[in-house]
Amino acid sequence: MIRGTTRLVGLLGWPVAHSRSPQMHNAAFAALGLDWAYVPLPVAPPDLEAAVRGLRAMGFAGANVTVPHKTAVIPYLDEISPLARVVGAVNTLRVVEGRWIGENTDIEGFRRALAETGLAIRGQAVALLGAGGAARAVLAALAQEEAKEIFLINRSPERARRMVAELGEALPAAGLHLPPVHLLHPEEPLPEGVALLINATPVGMAPETEASPWPPDRPFPWGLQGVIDLIYEPPRTRLMALAERAGIPAFNGLGMLLHQGALAFTMWTGQPAPLEVMRAALRGE
Ligand code: NAP
Repeated sequence: MIRGTTRLVGLLGWPVAHSRSPQMHNAAFAALGLDWAYVPLPVAPPDLEAAVRGLRAMGFAGANVTVPHKTAVIPYLDEISPLARVVGAVNTLRVVEGRWIGENTDIEGFRRALAETGLAIRGQAVALLGAGGAARAVLAALAQEEAKEIFLINRSPERARRMVAELGEALPAAGLHLPPVHLLHPEEPLPEGVALLINATPVGMAPETEASPWPPDRPFPWGLQGVIDLIYEPPRTRLMALAERAGIPAFNGLGMLLHQGALAFTMWTGQPAPLEVMRAALRGE
């Protein structure tokens, strides 16, 4: 029930119709009996500045930010958290004494999802596919987790090089150091001993569910302990199926989506997030 007292948060993106965040957050508000509502806010890129001003004017209590606004929103905010500045992307806005602060909960969301898998990567080699916004958050998380080294594979090597250079330069400001990163061509084999393979490209996402970012006829490197695909639609991607067929545990992106949302929920409301309610809502249960 939306009343005169209801506090509003929303999702700035373009498009937003596919997002599962409204169902996740509204289920959480209902479970805790909070007089809050989460609304999708489709905002075309040229309207972003006006939309952020509108959120302030209309007394919103915060927001999430998604594609394509995660970087573009930065100039319109009063403050950016050190980690959001390092990765150059904001996915959560919170309001403290009227000041709009940009945060990045994708980084800690990925770390919490990783912890739930039970895969330990401290001191291990990790392979990362992709060099976009999600890959930047994962790279910062891998630095926090103190991975030993990273094998980075991206379609355009120039974008991968830029990401590594920018994060390598920016991370020390947040007290972190990028582990050694080796850029690999997509055709090059991964060395043995890589513990974890992470897909941060959209390859395999619905409706292209037959696609795989890992060539289906190429064996996984010996010793691979797990695969994480950041995609959550479909819930079991072709990559995950290939890994499981090789006896390697595979996890989808719902864990990261859940935990970035739970962190935002607590920033806005000051309450611990009802994780299992949110997880069930994301799964459509
Ligand atoms: P993005 O910024 O557009 O980056 C996409 C990356 O994938 C780029 O490195 C791009 O390579 C590569 N790529 C795209 N199409 C490709 C293709 N056909 N073949 C090979 N490489 C391709 O996207 P993003 O925001 O990082 O999102 C990436 C994926 O992560 C999406 O599936 C998104 O849904 C998912 N994601 C999940 C969560 C979660 O919470 N689970 C959070 C964020 C993102 P180039 O540099 O060569 O263009």
